[in-house]
Order: sequence, then structure tokens, then C-alpha cells
Amino acid sequence: MNLETLYEYIEKIGVMTFSTILNNEVHSRSAHFNGFDEDGLYFRTMANKPYGRQLKETGKLTVCGISDSTVQHTENGGVYFPPSFTIRLIGDIRFVPPEVIIEKAKSNELLKTAANDIVEYPAMADGNFVMYRARVEIYDADFEMEHRDHKLLRTRFSFGGATFNPAGVRITDQCIECGACKEACSFKAIEEGSPYRCVPERCDDCGSCIRACPVDAIQESLVF
Ligand code: SF4
Ligand code: SF4
Repeated sequence: MNLETLYEYIEKIGVMTFSTILNNEVHSRSAHFNGFDEDGLYFRTMANKPYGRQLKETGKLTVCGISDSTVQHTENGGVYFPPSFTIRLIGDIRFVPPEVIIEKAKSNELLKTAANDIVEYPAMADGNFVMYRARVEIYDADFEMEHRDHKLLRTRFSFGGATFNPAGVRITDQCIECGACKEACSFKAIEEGSPYRCVPERCDDCGSCIRACPVDAIQESLVF
């Protein structure tokens, strides 16, 4: 995974939820990334909005979005979530001066609208930012297994020097190979072995296996 591929996924979603922190509260709004290059992912706002001020003050941003947010109710009273993918980014941002955007736009088609708006709307001039460092997860869900034989495919990566923990519970050497965890896992995320093994890309961190294990051999997943 690289920034170009990530941006392709982002474009398929479009508008996402951008969250900042102000006075110890989380503030979220709908926004979108408007370009990328080797320095990161670009986004913008009117600099004088509270959002713009929060961005400058904290330098922190989390972003989340889903490719299909529809929920359907089934005849038997259940809920159906169509196959979709979620993107989650947790990262650091910095302000990008207007002259830098204008210069980058000469060779980057994606930033041309931002450059034009800097000229046309003065309030946009100081509202460009780049997420220059982040850890990223793409959570590809097919809960009814319509297109493959397991529910989840989680991809984690980072850019700009960020680090992250892998997904998934951790099975220790205390495992006595009884198979109860594999039986309990509807995500098909546990493989037999000595000890048994969790496949991180398939694991939802749900904890059913932890509850099923008779010898407490399974540790919870680490924070992303
Ligand atoms: S339930 Fe616990 S002891 Fe049994 S196979 Fe899984 S990890 Fe090993
Ligand atoms: S935490 Fe849930 S999804 Fe992950 S291995 Fe255990 S039962 Fe399966």
C-alpha cells in the first residue's frame, strides 16, 4: 500500500468524517481530501472557521469513512450490512502556505482547484493543510461472505514515519490446542497450530475466542 493507492480508496468514498479536539471535546464534520503527493494527503477549509482554528492549534486529526453506509432490515428482524470498506486514519497535520499550494498545482492536477480558490476566495488562502504522517487501516468487510470465504480483510500501513500495532488477538504458549477458540470464531481468523494462531487480517478483535479459551491463553489486541 502507498499514498497513491490509498488516495484511490479515499476517492471511492468521497466525503469522510474529520475529527479534531477542542477544549477536551471531540468535534467531527464532513470534509474530503483534495489531493496527495510525496508529502502526504491534502485537505482544506476556511481558515477562520472554528475547524480551521482547531486544526492549527492541535496539529492532530482523525478521519474515517465507509464506502457504503446503507443498512437494510431483513424480514426476520435482523440487519444486513452490504459489503463495503472503511478507511481510518490517525495522524498529524500541518498548515501549507498558499504559495506552496500554487507552486505544487503547476505539476499536480489534483491541487489545481485549491490553487484557484486561493486566488478567488481570500478566506481559503490560509486554509490548506497536509496530513504528513499517519497510521491507516482499510477494513474491508463482507459479513455475509458473498464474495469470499471469510468476513474481514484488514490492511494496516503508515506513512511519514508513523508506527502502528498489528490487528488481532495474540495467542500465547499457554495454548493447549483444544480448538475452542477456532470453534468460537465466526470470522475464520484462527488457524490450528502449536500454539494455535490468529490471522490478524481476518480478526475483528471481538473477543469471542478469549471468552472460549479454557486456559486464558489469548491476549486482547493492542491499540491501533
Ligand atoms: S481455546 Fe485456548 S487453549 Fe484452546 S486452542 Fe484456542 S488458544 Fe489454545
Ligand atoms: S477476537 Fe474475534 S475475530 Fe478475532 S480471532 Fe477471536 S473470535 Fe476471531
